[in-house]
Amino acid sequence: MAVGLTAAALLVASRFRVVQVYAAFLACGLALIPAAQILAASIQPAAPDVAAGQGPEQDAMPVTDARNIWLILTDGYTSPAVVREEAGLDIAPFVDGLARRGFVVPERARSNYPATFASLASLLEMDYLIDEDSQQLGVDRPAINRLISGDNESVRVLRANGYRFVHATPGLWDSNRCVGFEDLCVSGPSPLSETARAMVRMTPVDPSAFGASRRQVAQQADPAWVVNEILDQAPEDPFFAFVHVLSPHPPFLWNDECALRTDTQLQLDVVQTGPDYAADVECLNRQLNDAIDAIVSEDSTAIVVIQGDHGSGIGTDPDALWGVPAERFEVFSALRLGPECEETVPDRLGMTNVMRIVLACVRGTEPQLLPYEAWMVQEGDDRVEPADLPDWE
Ligand SMILES: [Zn+2]
Repeated sequence: MAVGLTAAALLVASRFRVVQVYAAFLACGLALIPAAQILAASIQPAAPDVAAGQGPEQDAMPVTDARNIWLILTDGYTSPAVVREEAGLDIAPFVDGLARRGFVVPERARSNYPATFASLASLLEMDYLIDEDSQQLGVDRPAINRLISGDNESVRVLRANGYRFVHATPGLWDSNRCVGFEDLCVSGPSPLSETARAMVRMTPVDPSAFGASRRQVAQQADPAWVVNEILDQAPEDPFFAFVHVLSPHPPFLWNDECALRTDTQLQLDVVQTGPDYAADVECLNRQLNDAIDAIVSEDSTAIVVIQGDHGSGIGTDPDALWGVPAERFEVFSALRLGPECEETVPDRLGMTNVMRIVLACVRGTEPQLLPYEAWMVQEGDDRVEPADLPDWE
């Protein structure tokens, strides 16, 4: 009740600002889930069957090189070309540094969807879950959330081959949570109960504005902090660590010196500007370098993937809920697979193929890659349509 009253008071006190923020919600990918879906999604999935994953694919292709795998999902990290065009920042030095440290950075990488929930599902399941033939799953958020939280083909294959699953959740965004599929969890801040969050979501106020400490949110959005937290807890080898950090997605937490900002909203959906995004990317790149140092210094053969799930929201018309620009599909991608596998990364990489390439590497097989497809979907909308993107030249 206290939360509801607080929300009402906020609405009265800052009506015009709230209207502006609400318009921003419409433009962005993470929020604006109808309350009914939130309530449905808040239902805890059944206890997972950890013995699952004995499908024919796992039996047919065993892992022969069980190296640890880190999948660092940097939410909203667009391609170097779009970072330069939309945010005026040249990240070539960072990309060159990755290449010197054994990463392959494909010339172009694209997500298959412009929204987080669909992108993460396709990445982890290694397939198109939401297309014209399978629209139902697109609106079945509990199923999607369960998949993102660990009940997916990547985890099943690796578990069947003796891997532990380590899960670091971003916090603030509830679809990705530790719900029992993981062996080790580094959980992001979620300061309200599900019921309270559902109530707040019925208002135009973002529930992430309540109760979360800025430093706590920032800590979880720093891949170096999360990686060190996992290393400190020393999961048993081999493990697959899925680290989902909100950066460089809003809330914009750092300036370009990596000092914590206090002048930005602690919300998932705000109007994105080029300078805010550029500062966040500059700081994120430093943190990624620190995270990679921490991993490689302990485990020189670790597989490390840095992967964006969709582009930025810079320049997105708040009224254009559906027709986001093609740039929204451009993503950052860098894979450190080791010399024996680096030739398997194509020049044009779609997200359904990222974990296919990683798993083929630890199996010592050629990756079976899917043709690239792009689909328009949005949070809170059950439509699915082919996205009209220009060809990859
Ligand atoms: Zn996202």
